[in-house]
Amino acid sequence: MRAVDIIAKKRDGLPLTKEEISWFVDAYTRETLPDYQAAALLMAVFIRGMSREETVNLTLAMAHSGDVLDLSDVIGYAVDKHSSGGVGDKTTLVVLPLVASCGVPVAKMSGRGLGFSGGTIDKLESIAGYNVNLSDAEFRRLAKENGIVLSGQSRELAPADGKIYALRDVTATVPSLPLIASSIMSKKLAAGANGIVLDVKAGRGAFMPTVESARELARMMVDIGVDAGRDMIAVISDMNQPLGSAVGNALEVVEAIETLRGAGPADFREHCLQVSAYMLKLAGQGQRWTDPAEVRALLEGQLANGQAFAKFRQMVAAQGGDVSMVDDPSKLPQARMIESFNASRSGYIAQVDAQEVALAAFELGAGREKKGDPIDLAVGVKVHVKVGDRVQAGAPLVTIYANDESKLSACRAHLEQAIAYSETPVVPLPLFYDTIYGDSVPK
Ligand code: URA
Repeated sequence: MRAVDIIAKKRDGLPLTKEEISWFVDAYTRETLPDYQAAALLMAVFIRGMSREETVNLTLAMAHSGDVLDLSDVIGYAVDKHSSGGVGDKTTLVVLPLVASCGVPVAKMSGRGLGFSGGTIDKLESIAGYNVNLSDAEFRRLAKENGIVLSGQSRELAPADGKIYALRDVTATVPSLPLIASSIMSKKLAAGANGIVLDVKAGRGAFMPTVESARELARMMVDIGVDAGRDMIAVISDMNQPLGSAVGNALEVVEAIETLRGAGPADFREHCLQVSAYMLKLAGQGQRWTDPAEVRALLEGQLANGQAFAKFRQMVAAQGGDVSMVDDPSKLPQARMIESFNASRSGYIAQVDAQEVALAAFELGAGREKKGDPIDLAVGVKVHVKVGDRVQAGAPLVTIYANDESKLSACRAHLEQAIAYSETPVVPLPLFYDTIYGDSVPK
């Protein structure tokens, strides 16, 4: 096969065969295909698109470019979740123990964050001693013994995606739906899940700015999962304003613990309950948890009776984390300075721009610009208002947690941009816009 022929085919809008796609992914992963030819093909895909069949073949080729996790000997039916990334999105920290506390084993590999704020793995590192680098054997043992494990990637899952993503990043080919969908799904398929709940965010703080584009991406990812034999549910959720209140690593861990203890911000709690319900629906495989009211009562009960929190505690202890920090979150990393950002006028909150809030936290040091950069686990912001709230001039809207006074003015500038007021009442934003089910999942 010759790369130039494959590039020419895609350039002319012709579909690529499974063999051609596999050849390209394999050659690029093994570094026998130069960047300039891979870049040309990616740009042709960006312009011409890919059919469902081509996208599935690309995803499967990337998923099989490295290790593929097989958890079938430790977990009968593995259920996973994936968020397309959002501001204040600490959902995994609550949903995993909540679902596990219902008797559904969960074994998840999560990533570090790039950009606005840390990823799940960074957040967990706020807990002293928590080991995110488990060996393969430890990962399996904890999944089997405790029914919960949450670590970084111990294996090289979908290495082709890492290489292709890096090239997309510098060739203006990131925003292509088939390339995004195959990138995300290749990692999910390699992680060995039977059932996957996708939380696709839409809005100002999300990868997909509109509900329509998020729905299109979600549909494509559900189709890929279905064609790969997985049970799929995707939700489209709002990311115009931050999820919950806390944005920043240790602050988000505290909020997750509060939620696991039956409190926490109402929107975040509701979001976690719904994602967990979908995970139980998949794990039930049409046999159990078919009654939404019963599932809801079960999940609310597990938050109220301490079982979900106990599962989180068990996970932290098993992975070497300091459980006293979970019992007393004031022992988690604390910022030196706490400042208030107040309402400049009275009125209704018309906007709490998630992207500007994320940038405010980023200015304080909560995120990283490039791989390997250090992050300050203690800093961030807590946003006390939602779109639609009525506020009085001078009321505290945001609490800023900082370690460096020189970073405060840039943080405040972003908060000024984030908040908009209205004289007249404003309709609150919905939490969810849509749910998309794979063919194998009853509605
Ligand atoms: N997240 C991914 O993992 N891949 C993309 O292409 C975009 C977002």
